[in-house]
Amino acid sequence: MLGSGTSHGVPEIGCDCVVCRSTDPRDRRTRPSIVIEPQSNGPRPPVADAVGSILVDTSTDLRAQALANDIRRVDAILFTHSHADHVLGLDETRRYSTMQAGPIGCYANGDTLADLRRMFSYIFAPPRQLGGGLPQLRLFRLAGPFVLGGVEIVPIPLLHGRLPVLGYRIGSFAYMTDCNRIPDESWPLLTDSGGVRVVIIDALRERPHSTHFSVSEAIEVVARLGAERAYFTHICHDLPHAATCARLPAGVQLAYDGLVLEINE
Ligand SMILES: [Zn+2]
Ligand SMILES: [Zn+2]
Ligand SMILES: [Zn+2]
Repeated sequence: MLGSGTSHGVPEIGCDCVVCRSTDPRDRRTRPSIVIEPQSNGPRPPVADAVGSILVDTSTDLRAQALANDIRRVDAILFTHSHADHVLGLDETRRYSTMQAGPIGCYANGDTLADLRRMFSYIFAPPRQLGGGLPQLRLFRLAGPFVLGGVEIVPIPLLHGRLPVLGYRIGSFAYMTDCNRIPDESWPLLTDSGGVRVVIIDALRERPHSTHFSVSEAIEVVARLGAERAYFTHICHDLPHAATCARLPAGVQLAYDGLVLEINE
């Protein structure tokens, strides 16, 4: 878990509330992102090496997150949508394409790809003078489940207000940030093949919001999914970590930056 905070981050600039002034490190939340490192327990470790690290979104805080978590490789990037908090760290991937001496595949829906091309035109339509270099990226439009380095990734269409965004499922794990509705046709993608046991899901705050699940709405989704463990993300400064976790249902917690989940298939 690289970042568990809402778009402002926590603390918010200029805020003196108890959460923004908290000394609990779990109350310090950078912008939302995770990294997934698939590993094989089987007899073929070289295959596991080929899978590499899959980054989900390039948050505004990517550089700080990469340093804090010692992320040495990024082999692929999955984008959920193009809101600023999820994409503004894209330029930081320059370091990875340089170290790895090759382009990084970026996977997203068509709208997100169009936005990335426009927002980062200097990367995708480079200027004549190349100074400090550019990230080397290859864009791929997602149209359904696909395989990366032997791992099946299932894009889950979600609604973030009226904006279609993507969650992602890998095996029994799902990541669904920035959403306030799971369309009926997406449920089978989450419940097929043994369903989802571990989920990271948007829960902005207690009060309802037009584009994010509230805590009570996210709890309902977790119950319907039948997940064993759930971690809330995209959290704003309304929710103190310790006090909120103490009253959440069994198996449900707030995520925090630096949290590591091991998911055994
Ligand atoms: Zn967001
Ligand atoms: Zn605050
Ligand atoms: Zn968003």
